[in-house]
Amino acid sequence: MTFGLPTHSITGFKRSHQSNVPHSTAPTRPCVFLDRDGTLIEERHYLHDPGHVHLLPGTVSGLRLLVDHGHPLVVVTNQAGIGRSLYTEHQMHACNQRMVELLAAAHIALDGLYFCPHIPSDNCKCRKPAIGMALQASRDLGVTLSGAWVIGDKALDVNLALGIGGHGILVRTGYGQDPVQQSLCAPEAICNDLYDAASWIIAHEPRP
Ligand SMILES: [Mg+2]
Ligand SMILES: [Zn+2]
Repeated sequence: MTFGLPTHSITGFKRSHQSNVPHSTAPTRPCVFLDRDGTLIEERHYLHDPGHVHLLPGTVSGLRLLVDHGHPLVVVTNQAGIGRSLYTEHQMHACNQRMVELLAAAHIALDGLYFCPHIPSDNCKCRKPAIGMALQASRDLGVTLSGAWVIGDKALDVNLALGIGGHGILVRTGYGQDPVQQSLCAPEAICNDLYDAASWIIAHEPRP
C-alpha cells in the first residue's frame, strides 16, 4: 500500500496516486469515480483526524459489487480545507491512509486516489466539477472517461459526470439528502447509499 508516499505536482495540481495489488479479474468495465466525504466515509466538516474516518454503511458492500463486476475504482476528492489552511495536506493523507486501511481490511483496493487542494477562487482545472482529476486518472491508469460513472453526494460530483461524458449518480448520504443538491444537477439516479448506487449501475449498464 503506497498511499502514504509523497505526492507529486503534475500539470498544475497535486495528485496522490498508487497502483495497488492487481485485481483478481482484469478490469474491463467503465471506471467508477467516487467522491470521498459523504460518499465513502461519513461527512465531517473539514475532516482532518484519521480517528474520525468511518466508512458509511453500504461502502464495503457497494465497492465489492463494483470490483466483482470489473469496474476500476478511482477516488476524486475536493479538499479545499487545504487551500483554506484548515488542515494540512499531511493530515489529509493520514485520513486517506486510514480509509485505505479500512477498505483493505475488507479486501478492497482502490485503483487511484486524486485530490484537489484548491479553493473555488483559484479557478484550478481539478476542483470538481472541473475534470482535471479524471483526466489525470485517464492518463495514469488508461481508464476511458466517456461512459464512466461518477458517484457522489453533491451536485458537483454529478456535474463532473457531465463534463467527461459519463453518468452521474447522487447518493443520499452526506449532503445528498439536501434537496438543494438534488436541484442543482440531473443525476441518472438518486440512491440511498453506495451499495444502492452500485446495484443500480450493475442493473443498468450494458452487458459486456
Ligand atoms: Mg462529498
Ligand atoms: Zn484544484
